[in-house]
Amino acid sequence: MTVYLVGAGPGDPGLVTVRGAELLAGADVVVYDRLVHPSLVDLAPSDAERLYVGKAPGRAEIEQADINALLVEHGRECAVVRLKGGDPFVFGRGGEEAEALAAAGVPFEVVPGITSAIGAPAYAGIPVTHRGTSTHFTVVTGHEDPAKESADVDWDALAQAGGTLVILMGAGRVGDIAARLVAGGRPPDTPVAAVRNGTRADQRTVRATLATVADADVRAPAAIVVGEVAGLDLAWFETRPLFGRSVVVTRAREQASELRHRLEGLGAEVIELPAIAIEPVPFDLPDLDRYRWLVFTSANGVAAFFDRGLAPAGLDARALAGLRLAAIGPGTSAALAEHGLRTDLLPERFVAESLLEAFPPPVIGDERVLLARAEKARDVLPAGLSERGYAVDVLAVYRTVTATPTPEVLERVRGGDVDVLTFTSSSTVTNLCDLLGVVPSPQPLVASIGPVTSKTALERGLRVDVEAAEHTIDGLVDVLLRALSNGGA
Ligand code: SAH
Repeated sequence: MTVYLVGAGPGDPGLVTVRGAELLAGADVVVYDRLVHPSLVDLAPSDAERLYVGKAPGRAEIEQADINALLVEHGRECAVVRLKGGDPFVFGRGGEEAEALAAAGVPFEVVPGITSAIGAPAYAGIPVTHRGTSTHFTVVTGHEDPAKESADVDWDALAQAGGTLVILMGAGRVGDIAARLVAGGRPPDTPVAAVRNGTRADQRTVRATLATVADADVRAPAAIVVGEVAGLDLAWFETRPLFGRSVVVTRAREQASELRHRLEGLGAEVIELPAIAIEPVPFDLPDLDRYRWLVFTSANGVAAFFDRGLAPAGLDARALAGLRLAAIGPGTSAALAEHGLRTDLLPERFVAESLLEAFPPPVIGDERVLLARAEKARDVLPAGLSERGYAVDVLAVYRTVTATPTPEVLERVRGGDVDVLTFTSSSTVTNLCDLLGVVPSPQPLVASIGPVTSKTALERGLRVDVEAAEHTIDGLVDVLLRALSNGGA
């Protein structure tokens, strides 16, 4: 088989190449490093073997020779993706791995990645070349001791060359390096920008000059840019409205992506802590001809009804031709639209009470309503509709159960080390509180999708800081944006 040396890009998982993502999706084994984003490793099939070969606390660093041997061994048998931060051939030791594979006769391919040497400056708003300012850039390791007599890096020559210098692995020696460059002839007032954790949610850019950078707070991993371009500040990434905010999403994993993408697009660090998981409930499809109305209160309900009700019976949307359709909100309505169905009744506010109000009185006596929903839910709709004169059948099509989140994430939230908790339903509140066991202290800002969810949160001892005016994901994002861009949290 083949070993693919794949560049993961500098941090932002969106910066992996299409080719890299395709190879990950087909990998049998993924061998990855410390600076690789976990969601890229998640692209591999769930049964792929995942081998972490980076540094870990309390463990000796794995020798390069051992990594090479590992690649040769697995590469003989299966498709191996060797995922490396940035570009595999820029200070990534990818060259050594390719040499080992070539020597062992194991086929390999190289998929370049966006190196942090240009990716991190780009996300800090620094072009490494700029018309009229810098005609070339040099990427150099700062790992070498600049005071060493027989150093491999010729700092004097680099100082003389001018242009832009990008130093990787240099955070620990930046003072010495700056001194060498000044001694070599670069003006002390030359701008310096150190981009730490570039392209990640926790990116920080420290600005200084060659004269002052020794005293600046430069920490690894950083791409250090020296030259006139480092004085440019075309900031865009760090100025997005939710940049630097960590927001916990408690929805079930299958449902989290819309909220995640909205928040990430606004610059937030999204922490997925699914408090609920969706589980199928076995049900028999009732005789649909008996009903006038079919009511859905969530997209999950729609999915379950179609996938495990209609589909096994060999039916599709046409089976609902004689029914009127009600949905609690736009998400549910969109799920129906995916099946080519238009919603007949959508309430003004997206809560059960409003749906009830919107329901017309039965045309004839004893009109039947089928309510397809979660196993446990409030009684508002069945009770209210019965009172209106409808005959109501509740069909439980799924249940929400407490999920088992990763302990580290749970611990982080418990310690109050996040800015925002978002809740999109009462069950997310109840289950998260059960999982946490304590109210996080200090309590992060709590954002709730609507009054029912807020009430549950208050009952569980949480302070509710903001509530969505429109009870949708968009409404939740809007209220959060307003609270946080006003300097809240
Ligand atoms: N192959 C990698 C570099 C590996 S050497 C690449 O092409 O980017 C590791 C060094 O890369 C770190 O010490 C740091 O200088 C730099 N680096 C990696 N990721 C970074 C990031 N997200 N932001 C800033 N620098 C980063």
